[in-house]
This record gives sequence, C-alpha cells and structure tokens, in this order.
Amino acid sequence: MIRVYEWLESRFEPKFRTKQFNQAFYQEQAPSFDAITTWPKALREAAIKELVFDELKLVTAQESQASRTSKFVFMRANGQLIETVLMRHKGARNTVCVSCMRGCPVKCTFCATGALGFGGHLSADEIVEQVVYCNRLLAKENETVSNVVFMGMGEPMLNLNNVEAAIDMLTNPEQVGLGGRKITLSTSGYVAQLRLLMDKGFRGRLAISLHAPNQQLREELMPVAKVFSLDELMQAMDDFVALTNKRITYEYVMINAVNDRSTHAHQLGKLLENRLSHVNLIPYNKVEGKPFERSSQKSLHRFAAILARYGVAHSIRGTMGDDIAAACGQLAAKVAAQ
Ligand code: SAH
Ligand code: SF4
Repeated sequence: MIRVYEWLESRFEPKFRTKQFNQAFYQEQAPSFDAITTWPKALREAAIKELVFDELKLVTAQESQASRTSKFVFMRANGQLIETVLMRHKGARNTVCVSCMRGCPVKCTFCATGALGFGGHLSADEIVEQVVYCNRLLAKENETVSNVVFMGMGEPMLNLNNVEAAIDMLTNPEQVGLGGRKITLSTSGYVAQLRLLMDKGFRGRLAISLHAPNQQLREELMPVAKVFSLDELMQAMDDFVALTNKRITYEYVMINAVNDRSTHAHQLGKLLENRLSHVNLIPYNKVEGKPFERSSQKSLHRFAAILARYGVAHSIRGTMGDDIAAACGQLAAKVAAQ
C-alpha cells in the first residue's frame, strides 16, 4: 500500500499534516481517517478514497477470562493469517507479543510456527499495526501497551530490515513512543544478524531461545545451531553484556525426557553461572502431530533447584492463555488449517 507519509508528500501537504496524522493514529487511537479531525474534511475524504487505513484486518479475537490474555488473528492484504497476543498483567504491564512473519523458515523441531513453513515477511507497518490495534482496545480500559515482545510468529533476525524499521516506529516519540528498553527481541540464535544489530546500536532487550545446554542437543532441536554454534552465540552475548550491562533472558522450553534431565540442568548451570542472565523455563505447550510432551512438575522444579545451586536467576513461565492456544509456540497451530 502507499504509506500515508509518501501520499501526503506527493500532494505537497505541509509537514504538520504528518504530525497530525501521527498524533491521531498512534497516540489518540483514531479508528479511521475520518476521525483525524485536525485534517480538513477534503483531505480526509481523499485519504479514504486513495489509502488503506489498516493493512491488517481482524478476523477473530479470543479472550481468556482466566488469565486476561487475548489472542487476535489478523488477515494480511494477501489473505494470509497471522497472530498477535495481548497479555494484561494486572496493575502492571500490558505486553503485546507481535508476529514478524507468516510462519517461519527456521523449523525448530518442537514449534508449531516452524511447522507451517515460511509464508513471507511482515512489513514494518504490519508489525506496528498489531501494537496500534492493542492500544485502541486498551484505550477503552484506560490502559496502554507498555511492552512489546517479538515472540509471535517468525524469526526477527531473518526479517531484520522491517523489524528495525518497526522498532524505530515503536520508539519514535511522535509515533508509538515506547522506551527502547520496553522492547524485547527473541531469537533462535542468528549470531551474524545479532552482531549487525549490536553494531548499529540496538539497546533493547534480548531473549535467546536456548532450549539446550550443549551443542549436540541444540543441533537436534534447532537447525540454526548447525550454522551458528552455541560457543559463537555465547560469545556474542558476552559482548552484548559488556556493551550494555543488560541481563539477557534465556528461554528454555521444558520437554519431557528430551532436555529436562538433571545432567542438562547442571550443564546449563555451568554455562550461565558467570553470565548476566535470567533463565525462563517454559513448560512445553503440546503441538498436535509432534512427539514432544511437557515436562512433569517434578522435573521442572528439580531443574530449577539445580540452577539455583549455580546461582543462576530463573523463573518458571506461567502458561498464560493456554486455554485459547495463545501461549507461545502454539501460535499458528489453530489457524494452520484456515
Ligand atoms: N523465532 C523467535 C521468536 C519466537 S518466540 C525465537 O525462536 O526466539 C517464541 C518462543 O516460544 C521461543 O523461545 C520458542 O522457542 C518457544 N516455543 C516454540 N514452540 C514452543 C512450544 N510448543 N511450547 C513452548 N514454547 C515454544
Ligand atoms: Fe521459528 Fe522461533 Fe519457532 Fe524456531 S522457535 S521455528 S525460530 S518461530
């Protein structure tokens, strides 16, 4: 679609029209061009005729009463479906989990999104619209989006240009206006792209999908490990910490009898004991057609107790929104057939 900025320029509109659009669209949650009342009527009418207001169309919204989580399925202009999750942490954060691709080409063995295959990159506008949509919804509750995590469909490091442009829009005070530290990129470990991002000055938060404490098991679970080794990944993380002094989140999905044994916990403890880190233990969400099962509560707690002995900070992720398949890794499982 033609972006509103280029369109305004092509009409030789004064610069402040852009500011007025940003104010209405990103900050006042205007639901249509017609609601941008700072624009003259003729301009609004022309925009309605010539532009698309929302690139993503809402297909379904599911609310989980139990956990105050909402899952949205959006349709792209080409008909593909993508998903977004809004997690309301009472009295605290409102976090939006955005997708940056339709499907994912990485194909981690346990992941539903990977099983969909790769359907295409989302544009920066499509990524940011997911946040704008949630802001419109939250405005009715006198709330706003406070955090954005790139943990929906897709691998951010493989759609870097659009992800970087989206981060610029999310942090631009004239647009969404979030602080840089409120944005978390989650990656399965594309070291070259991570280094590029670091060199360009990325200072948001990083979450690394680790899922295995040694090279061999990581290769079995995540094909990317064959391209970028665990050693290279940890070296890059050490460099990021040296640069930013920021704690890195390591995501570790707990799969029964695959990566949840005591030996794995000891290996992970040794790997991270001298590193600025926080391990997020994620109980595996069952994906239909995959042979993996969630670890038992007993294994989870034994694993956590071993990490504690190494002084490694950790938490066990609550499976927010499990009941509506909004939990991480289950995105796409339900829309795959649509
Ligand atoms: N592609 C990026 C962003 C997706 S984030 C990445 O892999 O980091 C989604 C998180 O959920 C990742 O840590 C991913 O490994 C994890 N995940 C994938 N499938 C899962 C499942 N079935 N249960 C729990 N977590 C899963
Ligand atoms: Fe892609 Fe992340 Fe799923 Fe791996 S875990 S297939 S990188 S979305």
